[in-house]
Amino acid sequence: MYEREIAIIKADLGIEDIDIDWRWVNRRWLRRTRKFTTYGDYTHRQPRPRISIATKRSYEDVIKCIAHELRHAWQRKNGVLLVEHISGRSWKHTWSGTTFCSGRRVYARKKYEERPHEIDAFAYQEDAWKRLFGGKSIEKPTPHTVVADLFLSALY
Ligand SMILES: [Zn+2]
Repeated sequence: MYEREIAIIKADLGIEDIDIDWRWVNRRWLRRTRKFTTYGDYTHRQPRPRISIATKRSYEDVIKCIAHELRHAWQRKNGVLLVEHISGRSWKHTWSGTTFCSGRRVYARKKYEERPHEIDAFAYQEDAWKRLFGGKSIEKPTPHTVVADLFLSALY
């Protein structure tokens, strides 16, 4: 599914060499709790990372979601996001050389929209939609408004 779009986004990110295990989920979302709804997921694993995408959504939403998750693959490949295992369930997340949180509990408490790799992925999905697929949105989104919009839409 979406082979053409995936090829375009991968070429834009320069990650044509990364083989992805795609999981297409024919639902409107992947997970839904009272606090949040997820539409896509990136799981770093060997030998291939796995990306899951909820497909019962508009073309625009699915393409943005694919771009978002592929951006996570790009972050890992380029060392922009480093995730190191410390011990047990403890992980250290390093973003561009700056440790922004350490330890799983701290990481879990860090608001999703404040995580640098999410701000970056949301900014990229909007940029990719407009630049690569001629998206229609007129207002130039900033990472902040993109995240705010996403959270508002996730609430409803
Ligand atoms: Zn993300």
